[in-house]
This record gives sequence, structure tokens and C-alpha cells, in this order.
Amino acid sequence: MIIDCHCHAGKGDGLTGPWDTDASLEKYSRRASQAGINQTVLFAAFHSDYAVANREVARIVASRPGRFFGFAFVNAVHDRGRVSSLVRQAVEEFGFVGIKVHRHDGNITREVCTTARSFSLPVLYDVMGEVAVCELLAQEYPDVNFIIPHLGSFADDWRAQTALIDIMVRYKNIYADTAGVRRFDILEQAVRRAGAKKLLFGSDGPWLHPGVELAKVRALALSIPDESAVLGGNFLRLIGKAGQPARMVNEVGLADFRHIHHLPIATHTHRGDPWLQEEVLC
Ligand SMILES: [Zn+2]
Repeated sequence: MIIDCHCHAGKGDGLTGPWDTDASLEKYSRRASQAGINQTVLFAAFHSDYAVANREVARIVASRPGRFFGFAFVNAVHDRGRVSSLVRQAVEEFGFVGIKVHRHDGNITREVCTTARSFSLPVLYDVMGEVAVCELLAQEYPDVNFIIPHLGSFADDWRAQTALIDIMVRYKNIYADTAGVRRFDILEQAVRRAGAKKLLFGSDGPWLHPGVELAKVRALALSIPDESAVLGGNFLRLIGKAGQPARMVNEVGLADFRHIHHLPIATHTHRGDPWLQEEVLC
């Protein structure tokens, strides 16, 4: 069983690049089945309205039962105040099992994290190289699992990727996917230091070839149990409780989070770093 944990699907409504224009699965499906990939996690391309985009992904997921999983894409900024209702629909109506957030849309918020917590969903958050936030996510939401795609940087910033591995070593709830990582030594380092249990195979299809991405994982020459963890076991573990309401939670003594969505939602998404005199964005 091989599961690709990272693939886009459906139409974007932008026109600036493949990422917000079109994520047709026609070639992807052929390439994936030739490579022996049995199941794939789908989420939208960039879109100005993820309610629309998620519904299209839901239609694709439903078209081939057992072949696809769905993640709800949310824009942490534009969807402020409706993240929970978008995710609730995705879980209850579409059967989705995770949340996707991209920093290109806006920085992740407490609203996203508490929603993930209340539905027991993993969050796949593209930090675009800003891996330091994972320290905060890991500490503030120890009961939420975060998958950081591209080992922290699609741009292949080795500094960010190496820093993310440190964070994966130190926090049990920070994972990474392999999609688009070019420097093979860094993938090897991730497995060696953080362990195969912290890495998930993802392709970033349909724009990257899933067979090429899978070959990288094969080239790691892992033991059979470690390889099967990376190729699907870890993902299945992370979605094991998807959709179940959060109950008693873990060793930090945070007992019950069902009340948490009643908390006021922060109105600032980025306050800037006062020590660097960064501009304050709201
Ligand atoms: Zn992607």
C-alpha cells in the first residue's frame, strides 16, 4: 500500500501559474498507477474561495471511492470566522480527513489550530521557509499533528530544511513530507535524525511526477518497516482519529478542548517582530 499524501486537484481561479490555474489529475492518475501508488490525498489548488474549491475536490474524491482522501483547504486570513464551519462541512459532508493551509494565503492562526484539534485532524501547513513558527505550533498545540510539506521549503532552502529537522527531532507532533525536496542528503538526514516515523511520502502532484518523487523515497534504501511507514503507515496513523471530537488529551494536562472554539478569534495574523521593527500587518 503506497499513499501519496500531497496532491492538488481541481481548478484554481487565478491565472498566475500552474498553482492557481489548473490541477487536472488525468496525467497524474496514469503516472501514479504506473508507479504503484494506490491512494492519494487531494486538496485544492490556490483559490479565492475555498468553499467552492473544496466542493470540487469532494466531487473528485467521491468519483473514485477508496482511491482518494480529501483535505479541506482553508485561507487562515480570508476564512477567518468561518474556518470551523468550512471544516465541519468537509468532515461531515465530504468525509475529509485533514486541513491544508498555505502561508502564501496567510499565516496559520489559532482558529485553524483549534479547529483541527476539535475535529482531531492533522494540518498540512506550507510554511514557505518560515519554519520557526513550528516551534510555537508544537508547544501551543501539542495534541495537533502538523505535516510541513517540502521539509519546510519548496524553494529548497537548505537552511530552513535543516532547521525543520531539528524541530522534528524535538517535537513529537511535527512531521514533514518529501514532496519536491531536491537535496537528497537532507532527506537522508531527516530520516537519520528525526526517524522514519516523522516523514511522509508526498509528490506535490499533478505538477511534480509522482513516480519521480517516489523514486527518491525508494533510494533512501530504508528497512521494510521504515519504508512502509513513510509510504503510508505514518499517514494512516495521523488520520486515525479524523472526525472524532477531541476528548481527554495527553500528558500536558489539557483536559477537554470542546469549549475552545468559543474563544474569541485573534484579529491579527502577523504582528511583525518588534525587535526587527518589522511592519505590522493586520
Ligand atoms: Zn502542494
